Amino acid sequence: MVGPQWIESILEVTGLDPLGVQAISIRIYGYLLPGISNVTNRLRYYSFLCWVLYNYTKKGGSNNLDDWRMYIRKAEFLFSLISDVHHINEQGSSSTVGSDTSTPLIKKYDLDVIDLTKYTQYEDSPDRYFQNKGGGFAQYYKGPMENLKLVIKGGPLRVQLAENVKTTGERRFGVKAALVFSKNRYIELFHNCITKGKVTRNELSSMAESLCACQIINNTEEYDLLVNLLFDADKEYGRSGSRRRKTFYLILKFLKDTKSHGLSIEEYRNICMYRHYHNGQSLNISHHYDDVLSIWHIYQMHEYFCYALQSLLYVFERMIDEYQGSFDDIAELIKGEIQRGMSASLPSDLKSFSDVRFDAGTKLDAFINSIAFSNKSDSDWYSNTISEYYLKHEIDKFIEAKNLTAIFCLAYILLVKIHLKTNVSKDFYNYGENLNFRIYSSNIITLNKMIETTNDLWAFIRQVLRECVVDRHTIVALRKFRYEKKSTLRYSIEKNVYVRTNKLKYDVPVFTNPRLQQAFRFLEDLGMAEKMDNKKYIITSAGKQFLVGINEL
Ligand SMILES: [Zn+2]
Repeated sequence: MVGPQWIESILEVTGLDPLGVQAISIRIYGYLLPGISNVTNRLRYYSFLCWVLYNYTKKGGSNNLDDWRMYIRKAEFLFSLISDVHHINEQGSSSTVGSDTSTPLIKKYDLDVIDLTKYTQYEDSPDRYFQNKGGGFAQYYKGPMENLKLVIKGGPLRVQLAENVKTTGERRFGVKAALVFSKNRYIELFHNCITKGKVTRNELSSMAESLCACQIINNTEEYDLLVNLLFDADKEYGRSGSRRRKTFYLILKFLKDTKSHGLSIEEYRNICMYRHYHNGQSLNISHHYDDVLSIWHIYQMHEYFCYALQSLLYVFERMIDEYQGSFDDIAELIKGEIQRGMSASLPSDLKSFSDVRFDAGTKLDAFINSIAFSNKSDSDWYSNTISEYYLKHEIDKFIEAKNLTAIFCLAYILLVKIHLKTNVSKDFYNYGENLNFRIYSSNIITLNKMIETTNDLWAFIRQVLRECVVDRHTIVALRKFRYEKKSTLRYSIEKNVYVRTNKLKYDVPVFTNPRLQQAFRFLEDLGMAEKMDNKKYIITSAGKQFLVGINEL
């Protein structure tokens, strides 16, 4: 029988996605970039890790899980060291597995021999390159590699290389990827270093030219195979392959069209949403890509929606820190602040919104109309001071300045702008239906419904704050608590008074990371794109050439 007992104290952690609104975003980018994840940073791992698995078995590796893990751990760490030697004079991370350990090792010390065993042991030590016993393979790459039919679950090592299935004719690419990787020069030296458990500086330098993560271009067959994985030229991956190909096409096309201006990830998102480049030029893209472009458009709209709600949570948290009170007290305080200082707190370059009134007597439709009235065309989103893009950056500035009233007002203006764009869009509702928005209770469709049901501005403001932010966070945090046993609740309610849980940092609004960083880096690994000093990407001549042929895929 279980009686009452003392339980361990609850750990306070910063909960990700405190409003549980990002699930839609995550679902959408998973749909648009399958086979990649937010932690698969370098493309060459897809062929390299196949080879590690293949070579281990081929060289008589045992069925003992620990033996296999030690082999792959050494292989991963060695791969990372090679990359560090190859890029010893460059700044920034190589994004290889274990680079936090290998980069300082290569840069700081002039070690002639590196003991791989020391850095790849399981035991917790400052030298250990990776905590998960199965390495970066188990933690980062295995899932995406299953998705791409390179490996399958099962067997004594819990994973095996995927081979073609002769009976069904199904094509799988694990063995093929391993074989093309094995054609790299110095592949035997690489294996020998793992077996010896050590590597010399000279050996690392020799291997760098063919085995560095950036050297895919030196092995034609490996290059073709990896291009095929991403662009699915052979149509092996069905619809998911087509969505991945189209996304990569859009990136390359935008890179080409933005020329020397370069393209950042944020610009990619906004170009999809506004369907215009930063200079106002419209996209000239074959209708063949409409479906994927539209879904990226919806993704970015939803991101702005989430940004607005997270901004409101930020304001609410800051408010209860200063004035503990009931929900009504806090709402009244905000209302008073806005009415006292509305014109003073909005910056002068937002005078486009000087007609927008937050007064108590304002009707919701008048409020919406005043925002619609100041609306400009979407083509100049980059320079226009009332675009969602611009509003988001204004919110960021006001968070820096802790101007709560301004953040609050801008968040509602942002919500109304999203409403104006979507409430008349059949496309939006169709996609919403297809992507099953209904199972997520806070989304743009529910926002539009709220607007339909009232014409009182403050009733609407309160309803959003209450249902989409304050109560919503409570529900999400309690649900997480059930599974994670860690409280992520940012405030408690005592006698109807909100009290902030003081151990948590303020949660500033953030966008999700939609695997685009990885997609851009993959194009760099293939020599199709190049990163500039300002972190934007430009297309290379190889990229342009590839783009010409892509429509025939
Ligand atoms: Zn390199």
